[in-house]
Amino acid sequence: MQDKELQDKYRQQIPDLLAQLENAAKDWMSEPERENFDLFFTKVLDISGSAEMFGQMSIGAVAKTLQAEMSSFFRSHKIPDKIESKRILGINKQLVSMMQQPADDQNTEIREVLFKPKILDNELLHILLLEDDPKLAQDIKHKLSSTSFEITVIPGIAQIHPSFQTNTCCIIANLDNLNNKQIQLLGEVEEVRSSLPLIFISQDNSIDARLKAVKAGGQAFIVKPIDYTQLLQAIDSLTERDLAHKFRVLIVDDQKSLSDYYASILRSADFEVLTVNDPQHDLMPALTDFVPDLILLDLYMPYCNGQDLAGIIRQMGNLLSVPLVFLSAESSSDLQLRAMSTGADAFLTKPVSSDDLLLTVQSRIKRGRAVYDLVTKDPLSGLLNRRESIRRLDEEISRSRREGIPLSVAMLDLDKFKNINDTLGHAIGDWVIKFFSRSMQKVFRESDIIGRYGGEEFLVIFPNTAPETAQLACKRLKKYIKECEADLPLPFTYSGGLALWGNNEDSHSILERADIALYKAKEKGRNKVITATDNK
Ligand code: GH3
Ligand code: MG
Ligand code: MG
Repeated sequence: MQDKELQDKYRQQIPDLLAQLENAAKDWMSEPERENFDLFFTKVLDISGSAEMFGQMSIGAVAKTLQAEMSSFFRSHKIPDKIESKRILGINKQLVSMMQQPADDQNTEIREVLFKPKILDNELLHILLLEDDPKLAQDIKHKLSSTSFEITVIPGIAQIHPSFQTNTCCIIANLDNLNNKQIQLLGEVEEVRSSLPLIFISQDNSIDARLKAVKAGGQAFIVKPIDYTQLLQAIDSLTERDLAHKFRVLIVDDQKSLSDYYASILRSADFEVLTVNDPQHDLMPALTDFVPDLILLDLYMPYCNGQDLAGIIRQMGNLLSVPLVFLSAESSSDLQLRAMSTGADAFLTKPVSSDDLLLTVQSRIKRGRAVYDLVTKDPLSGLLNRRESIRRLDEEISRSRREGIPLSVAMLDLDKFKNINDTLGHAIGDWVIKFFSRSMQKVFRESDIIGRYGGEEFLVIFPNTAPETAQLACKRLKKYIKECEADLPLPFTYSGGLALWGNNEDSHSILERADIALYKAKEKGRNKVITATDNK
């Protein structure tokens, strides 16, 4: 939605906000109780937290004055005495009369959104490599190309801009060949400034070198000789290539104009957004069906407050680690602390600028994701770890049972892997595991679930898939690896056992049958996938 449209919509809501404010003030005047004061105060907050954002500068200013007057009572739970009440009502009167006037024409600029999260999936990503040693450049190019990146080697900083492509995901630069002036220039490159990841490689592991790298805007530092697994991990985590879906943000705010405003900022930065204005009716379905990566929660709402909702959310097992960000027009640090103690991760004070909103949401999601990954993912391959793989298998079994759809499961194991380790060393072995993992991610469907079950053994869950189709997928994987042979340190193959889930079978049993089929494939000469025929 356009800024102008949002502002118009807000203007249309002013009479409603005004009526609510007047009613709440009246209730408090006739019954000057704590509860009524709080309700009145939240109405003031609704206005002070939104008016300026939608161009209503003078209303915003008066609402803020009133908020300042009321907030000490709100926080201390003290009741205002006669004189204090009079002052509050006086300012309220001013606010009411401002809101009754025709809208003022002062428009706030809603700032242009610069910050776009990189959500890159299976597409081929482009890397700019700033390296003037042709041998090393060739080596890096070779290694990274085989893991589905395209690389452009450039000799100098001046070539960054002309070589830039829409799918450029990061810059790798050799720190050793750059003088101070060049390092400074690098940090000033527009793309780097707008948060394109910059990875430095260097011979020099000293603090000085690392400091130099940080000052130039470097986000990762890799010491030579290059450990490619480490380099790939840096690229992955900086470009968020692993992410299979857009970040999802749930906004809970009783004021529709505000939630629309936040949603429009987040959507323009490529987030998927769901808004809930009536938590009593709409929150539970949103939590279970939408499965947000982050929740923005208004601290004051009529039916229940943000802190209570936070408690409810934290009780839901699958949302234990989801970041919660509170929104409030109240900026008191005491209140923020209290909110944080109920499990919030951040606190944004209304009115929220688009930059603040995006930066907070982005950084909290990243951290939430990091915690989640730590628990569910295998660090070397980036695939699900064994425990999470089994948990997902159990989930898929329940789904198949419920929906009456087929489910195939494969155990894949690299052939004679010990030889690779023995002849080329453990580091190359690791690299092959990583390559194989990426190959599976590339070849299998997005809906297939891939985990590292053990050292060089992998579990693949094919939901809603017959074993014949899963066999074809395994054939495609074999073909893909064969095609990459020229880029590999040495050719390798894999074997697999496939099993179709049988009614009433549990995860333990199907894994066992897949494992027996795998064992048969090994026995029969490896480099093949065998389907278990003893369907249960
Ligand atoms: P087979 O074809 O029968 O599967 O033979 P294999 O050599 O692949 O099987 P084996 O079970 O004898 O050896 C597996 C090897 O995988 C042994 C172990 O050192 C290696 N391995 C397990 N995990 C890792 C790892 O994370 N990194 C590396 N580099 N090697 C690993
Ligand atoms: Mg509210
Ligand atoms: Mg093996």
